[in-house]
Amino acid sequence: MTTPDSPEPVADASATSGTPERRIGVYICHCGGNISDYVDVEAVREALKDEPGVVVSESPVFACSDGTQHDMIDDIRGRNLDGLVVASCSPKLHQVTFRNVAKRADLNQYAYTQVNVREQDSWAHPHDRSGATEKAIGLVRAGVAKTRLSDPLEPLVVRTVSRALVVGGGITGLRAAIGLADVGIQAVVVERAATLGGWVGTFGATFPDDASGAEEVAGLVEEIRKRRDITTYTGAELTGKSGSFGNYTVELTLHRDGSDKVLSLEVGSIIVATGFDAYSPDDGEFGYGIDGVVTLPEFKAMVDAGPSGGLTWRGRQVRSIAYVYCVGSRQEAGGNEYCSKYCCTATIHASLQVGTVDPSIRQYHLYRDIRAYGRNELLYNASREAGSTYVKFADDQPPSVAALPTGGLAVTVTDLLTESRELTIGVDLVVLVTGMVPRDPSRLVEVLKLPVGSDGFFNEIHPKLRPVETVVDGVMIAGCCQSPRTVGESVSAGLAAVAQSAALLKKGFAELEPLVARVNPEKCTGSGECLSSCPYDAITSIEWEGRSIASVDPATCKGCGGCVPVCGRDAIDLLGYTDAQMRAAIEEMVATERPKEPVA
Ligand code: SF4
Ligand code: SF4
Repeated sequence: MTTPDSPEPVADASATSGTPERRIGVYICHCGGNISDYVDVEAVREALKDEPGVVVSESPVFACSDGTQHDMIDDIRGRNLDGLVVASCSPKLHQVTFRNVAKRADLNQYAYTQVNVREQDSWAHPHDRSGATEKAIGLVRAGVAKTRLSDPLEPLVVRTVSRALVVGGGITGLRAAIGLADVGIQAVVVERAATLGGWVGTFGATFPDDASGAEEVAGLVEEIRKRRDITTYTGAELTGKSGSFGNYTVELTLHRDGSDKVLSLEVGSIIVATGFDAYSPDDGEFGYGIDGVVTLPEFKAMVDAGPSGGLTWRGRQVRSIAYVYCVGSRQEAGGNEYCSKYCCTATIHASLQVGTVDPSIRQYHLYRDIRAYGRNELLYNASREAGSTYVKFADDQPPSVAALPTGGLAVTVTDLLTESRELTIGVDLVVLVTGMVPRDPSRLVEVLKLPVGSDGFFNEIHPKLRPVETVVDGVMIAGCCQSPRTVGESVSAGLAAVAQSAALLKKGFAELEPLVARVNPEKCTGSGECLSSCPYDAITSIEWEGRSIASVDPATCKGCGGCVPVCGRDAIDLLGYTDAQMRAAIEEMVATERPKEPVA
């Protein structure tokens, strides 16, 4: 691995390779008709076949088919190709496919360039065949020009430490820690609160199976106490991170008896499972602040702690309850627009608990939509069968809550299910079904550089295909810090993060893309302009041959290219996308540009 204190002098990219003797194979795909219906693929093939360095120019019907892949491999081997260009769909779809073709034929996978002539050409210009064809020729020539100047690159190999830090000691973090220990990875749990367990550790019976949250968490904590591979720190925070993927040094600050103690640890991965905060209504929002109006977490605590003889508020027996759903969720633009997902079912479940304690308590559920999905629907059915009354109100006609002079509360609502009749319901207790809001992410954003969405939750790379990974290699997110979700969904995400950590750490090393920035120490004057340009803190200043120069840690660099234009000396280049390659590609594009139509 290249380290910051051992920069490899690099030749000026403009002088590297790029010899006319390159032997490049070009394949322009018909994609069935997705491309060839709008682009004259044969004309593109013809235009490319005599380009300098091109020795194969083909136009397969489906470049990604097994047969064409084999033909490419035969061409690479048989005709001794040292570069491969496929003009087809988006690299998101098939870059890996064709890199693998190169690898199978013993060609360096970074000598492959994918040119997108489908999404960026044929689909974009379906009514201009000649223009789309010209554009395709320009794009493919640009791809060939870039490939002509490509240098063989090898994946970066980094050593990984078999220890993971779990930030957050709620049910997701605790279960993840046990999962890590199960696969032989040491786990360190850091929890800000004085005790482990988070929200779920405070709950009694929980849906869908009535299991006690407190008991489930106690079981996990007991299991953790038995494991020598798991260390927990409560009253502690993650306050620093340095190093690079696979070898992070994290700084934990332990708050102890009024003073702070700082601990440093080496970890290979970090799982962030910091959970959520409950929405806190504004004063007056649905009557919040009036005696007898409580939030869902407050109500859940009452129900869990309630005496078996019934439910009481301020020492008085509660005979009737109104639940107002979607408080703090599904708000208008600018508010919390998301559905908090768990609160419909949590409320229905709590109301069933109430009915078990005292079936005579009247329960009114004032809702916009009931989102008790999957098997939770059965709880909804059970609550109706147990006597709960459901009243549907329109999004723009929310209920109002007022105190009655005689004591108790009046909830007024327009019921869509009874021809929009206005109902006023007298109740002893109003429960505001409050949703989830993100915990203040600022500290972790500062320390871990995690991206946060516009809703304030942390962002994964891809919600379906990479659901727990973040753009920071080796740092994963799991549970309600990502978005509102149920306990089961959060724990599943925690275990997905365990599997991801195992994939990264179990081999003892990991391979990273080599498409990273590199400083040419000969050109770098050590001005330091680039140091602050890197959003990932990948650039440092080091001593080299008696002077200061900038150096990029390749394991930290994400290859975003942000530092390249900052350097006034052109001392930074992005491997795989060097200045020389990009300049050559642009020049080819410009040279191919269609002559402008004379303006009438
Ligand atoms: Fe509203 Fe139900 Fe979604 Fe909660 S889960 S925000 S109450 S729809
Ligand atoms: Fe930082 Fe991006 Fe430059 Fe890499 S390419 S050093 S991530 S600015």
